[in-house]
Amino acid sequence: MNSSLPHIILKSGRDASLRRRHPWVFSGAIERIEKSAQDGDFVEVRTADGEVLGRGHYAPGSIAVKMLSWNDTFKLENGIRERIRKAAQLRSSLGLLESATTTGFRLINAEGDELPGLVVDFYGSTAVIQFHSTGMVRCADTIVQALREVLGSKLAGIYDKTTEEGGRYLWGEPGPREFFENGHRFLVDWESGQKTGFFLDQRDNRALLKSLCAGRKVLNCFSYTGGFSIYALAGGAVEVVSVDSSQAALATLEENLKRNHFQGKHRSVQADCLQYLQKLEDHYDAVVLDPPAFVKHRGALKGGIKGYDTINHLAIKQIQRGGLLFTFSCSQLLERADFFDVVHRAALRAGREARILYELHQAACHPISLFHPEGAYLKGLILEIS
Ligand code: SAH
Repeated sequence: MNSSLPHIILKSGRDASLRRRHPWVFSGAIERIEKSAQDGDFVEVRTADGEVLGRGHYAPGSIAVKMLSWNDTFKLENGIRERIRKAAQLRSSLGLLESATTTGFRLINAEGDELPGLVVDFYGSTAVIQFHSTGMVRCADTIVQALREVLGSKLAGIYDKTTEEGGRYLWGEPGPREFFENGHRFLVDWESGQKTGFFLDQRDNRALLKSLCAGRKVLNCFSYTGGFSIYALAGGAVEVVSVDSSQAALATLEENLKRNHFQGKHRSVQADCLQYLQKLEDHYDAVVLDPPAFVKHRGALKGGIKGYDTINHLAIKQIQRGGLLFTFSCSQLLERADFFDVVHRAALRAGREARILYELHQAACHPISLFHPEGAYLKGLILEIS
């Protein structure tokens, strides 16, 4: 079939990764483009011999095509609607869509839901979108319609938070800014907060912290609005200190403490965590390290690794014997083995024994396509330090 879509013709021998269903075509693999393609165009990808490998969204950068299908029959609007239905079904089967105790979760996780370029987080009744491709921006009307269809009366509004500077409502109006996570109340400001407003990927890891910190003195570094802090207090921590550089995040954290009736055993500190850890004199029985991505591009790998090394070393050095370290990296470009290696070296230098109790990753509403290992961006360990 000779479709009217622009054709992306691959160089000879550059089809292997697509045949393994990896959903990205890098620009270096392209021989030529027939019927020229613009940013955001729906295109067909073909081998040098003319065999159709699938269809996807074109962009002029290094990732030239994000694949949406592995055939030549996929129709853009129907296809996207169908994938959104599938994504909602998965959240329903995970018990999230109907839950009264967890009303905030990721509804669409880009490649993990076969919708590269599209992220949607749901907070109570507001869907917050991040578009990561022009192709998906062009599909905004279809996406809005499909979200209205799958969320029905649960949905009050759809907000586009693609840029940190601000967004706009694509449909409806904002719902209440409070949602529940495992029964805990959180205030979320999708308009001026970081990313879509809350880090929903840590839900299961927060629950684990809650189950492990009774009687412990907890230091939560890079606390943001206090996700881990609230769970620590709910789990019976005797004292919690939350450190973050953002005054706005700490103000929301204070509000979250009030809403969950946890005041008194908690202290917020506005500081740079690296400097704070360097000067730390207190000893803690549990430390959480959940920094922002230190490795945002390949050139930042060395510096990023040094950052992870420093915070892990400082935390391990001061932790009480028998203490727990919850350490994370959300850098997609830092692979699991390299992250483990950084933590290993940090423990070695601190002269402490460390045992892995749990290996952690993102919550199931952030599914990872087996064919797209880059989707496994969140790596974590719970270590017992003796
Ligand atoms: N653990 C949080 C999410 C952390 S996001 C949660 O569960 O919700 C990373 C946080 O690190 C952000 O709140 C950001 O403001 C903060 N941050 C970034 N650089 C920092 C630094 N050098 N020192 C302290 N906080 C920092």
